[in-house]
Order: sequence, then C-alpha cells, then structure tokens
Amino acid sequence: MVEHVVIGCGIIGLYTVFGLLEKGIDPKTIAIIAEHHPGDLSINYASPVAGAYFSASADLKLLKYSNYTYQNLVKLETLLGPKCGLGHCTSTEILDDLEVESDPYLNAIGENIDDFEILSPEEIEIISKGSRCAIRYKAWIFNSPVLLEKLCKYYKSIGVAFQRTRLESIHDAFDSDTKVVFNCTGNGSRLLGGVEDEKVFPTRGQVVVIKGPHIDQCISRWNDEATYIIKRPDSASDEVILGGYYQPYQPKKDTADTYGFETESILKRTTEMFPDLLKKNPFGDKIEDLQILRVIAGARPCRECGVRIEKELIAPNKLVIHNYGASGNGYMCGLGMAHEAVSLLD
Ligand SMILES: Cc1cc2nc3c(=O)[nH]c(=O)nc-3n(C[C@H](O)[C@H](O)[C@H](O)COP(=O)(O)OP(=O)(O)OC[C@H]3O[C@@H](n4cnc5c(N)ncnc54)[C@H](O)[C@@H]3O)c2cc1C
Repeated sequence: MVEHVVIGCGIIGLYTVFGLLEKGIDPKTIAIIAEHHPGDLSINYASPVAGAYFSASADLKLLKYSNYTYQNLVKLETLLGPKCGLGHCTSTEILDDLEVESDPYLNAIGENIDDFEILSPEEIEIISKGSRCAIRYKAWIFNSPVLLEKLCKYYKSIGVAFQRTRLESIHDAFDSDTKVVFNCTGNGSRLLGGVEDEKVFPTRGQVVVIKGPHIDQCISRWNDEATYIIKRPDSASDEVILGGYYQPYQPKKDTADTYGFETESILKRTTEMFPDLLKKNPFGDKIEDLQILRVIAGARPCRECGVRIEKELIAPNKLVIHNYGASGNGYMCGLGMAHEAVSLLD
C-alpha cells in the first residue's frame, strides 16, 4: 500500500527517499512519481547535468544543509557500496569577491569541513595572480548520472515503486491510501497545478565533459563568471567537467541548446585558470587536443528567497511537504534539505 509519495526523481527526490528510509519508513509504502528518471536528458531535469561537487563557498543561508550533507553522505556511500558515484578529492576555490582578512564567512564555512585552509597571499599569487582570497579543503565529488542510477537501483531492490508520469496537478498524486506527498519537482514547481510557485526560476548552465585522466582535483574561480573543473569519481572514461555559466532565467535560453561560443569560453577560462589542464593532458597540450566527450546544458531550479521546505495541507487529508529550490546546490545541500523535510512528518 503506497502511503508516501515522492514527486520527482532528481537528487532531491532521491535524497528524500533516503530520509524516509532512515526514519524507518517501510520502502514498500513509498512510491516515486516523475516525468524524468535517470537516463533521461532534459532541460527540465537538472540532476544528471550537474558536475557535481561540494563547494564550500555556497550561500551562508544554506550552511546548515551543506554541513549536514557533508557529514552524512558517508551513510549513503556505505549503503550503496563501492563505485556508487561518490568520492573525495582536494578542491581549491578562488573567491575574487572576498577579502581574506575581513570576511567572517570564511571561518563559518571552515568549521565543519575536513582539511579546510585559507591560502596564504604567497600561495594565492602562484595559483591566481591578483586574487585576494582562496580556500582549499577536502570535497565530496559526485558522478551525478551514476549516483542517480545507483540510488534508483537500490530503492527498486528494496521495494520502492517507480512510476513515470507527468502530473498536471499535485492533487493527482493522492489516492485513498496516501498519507503524505513530498513535492520534489525542482523547476516543475512553477507549473505544477496546486503549487504554481512564481518565485521559482531556472538558471541555465552549460558544461563541457572531457576525458581527463590527468585531473585528480577540483578547482574553481568565482567572480562575475563561474569557472570550474570537477573531477568525476567512478568514471570509466575519466570524465572531468569543465564549466561554466550561471544565467538566471533568459526566455530564449530556456532550452537544452548548447552554444559553440560558450564552449570556447569555457575551454579558454578553465585552461587559463589551471594550465595543467593542457600541460599534463596525455592527448596533447593545445586546447584542440582536449578530448571532448559531450557538451550539455541544464537549468538549476532556483527560487527567489531560497529553498522551500514546508508543510502544507492543500485539502482535508491531503498533506504535502515541499522540498524544492535547491538552485546550484542540490547535491551538496540536498541530504540536509531532505532530513529537514522528513522531520516535518513528526
Ligand atoms: C550545469 C549545472 C551544474 C551544477 N553543479 C552542481 C554542483 O557542482 N553541486 C551541486 O550541489 N549542485 C549542482 N547543480 C545543481 C543541481 O543539479 C540541482 O540543485 C539539483 O539537480 C536539483 O535537483 P531536483 O531534484 O530539485 O530537480 P531535478 O533534477 O530537475 O528533478 C526534478 C524532478 O521532478 C520531476 N517533475 C517536475 N515536474 C513534474 C511534474 N509535473 N510531474 C511529474 N514529475 C515532475 C522531473 O521529471 C524530475 O524527475 C548544478 C546544476 C547545473 C544545471
């Protein structure tokens, strides 16, 4: 009997199922309903497009979620076993908009992250001339398509039901046995009947996936551009993600189209930021020697005023718990978001 329905098969829906299982909910009472499932590619399905990595420099408002996720991902790793798409590596972030000396933010983010250090001006000068602030730490890294697949495979094996449907209204997720519906529809929450949250908006990103056996770390630079290199764990073809873009809703770009000029910019920016990308490339030391596997675009599910984790009785006996709006942080904050969403059942 399905009593717990999760709408959405992105990372937020899948982390939410993990939260339910941790709470002791019988998997045979859980169903996932979603239009897109792992293996699908769509501008309306952000999760498989993400790099992804744990960025220590995320919004302070999300700190409780990122801290929880950082500390508890190991439970997921233990549950799923080796090669589940989760790993660790060193991550260096160049934060052009921060001043090392004056920013209390840096202390707050460093508290719960392993091997966290603020780089000295001499070290910063070597990696990024002219920058004022950089941090380094041990990051979680995610092979997003692999992790999504593994989670679904595990859930199916223990009896969670999966249904492929596009719902017009959240009311359609209920039947007579349903106790609660978790709304984990990301950008879909803007259009889903009964939710229609106008604060939700997509933020487009384009990434270039290369074969990079020589890359064993993440490095990123944040200013008015988002430039990053993310090593993907458990990748048979040594995938490395080069990014990127952060383009809040643009009517003409709300598609999965990719653009050659954006690919050129990504390759230029990432190779300038990290010259070893070319110098140590086993396929040659010119930009055109990089082995591009594919170029993809996705839309981060953003929301003015941040994530929505909230309980709502939409009709008598129709309890909804919303969990969406993870923006560019679903992998690194989502376990904490799911924990809070599931705690609203109490
Ligand atoms: C280029 C890029 C890079 C990123 N890098 C990172 C990173 O490094 N680290 C990080 O933490 N995050 C990163 N992200 C963000 C991350 O991908 C998102 O925060 C996350 O995927 C959001 O997950 P979600 O489950 O909320 O949404 P989605 O993955 O979009 O899933 C939504 C689900 O809801 C379903 N759905 C929607 N509407 C309906 C409906 N009406 N009926 C039925 N089903 C419906 C969809 O089919 C889908 O299954 C990145 C994103 C992009 C695009």
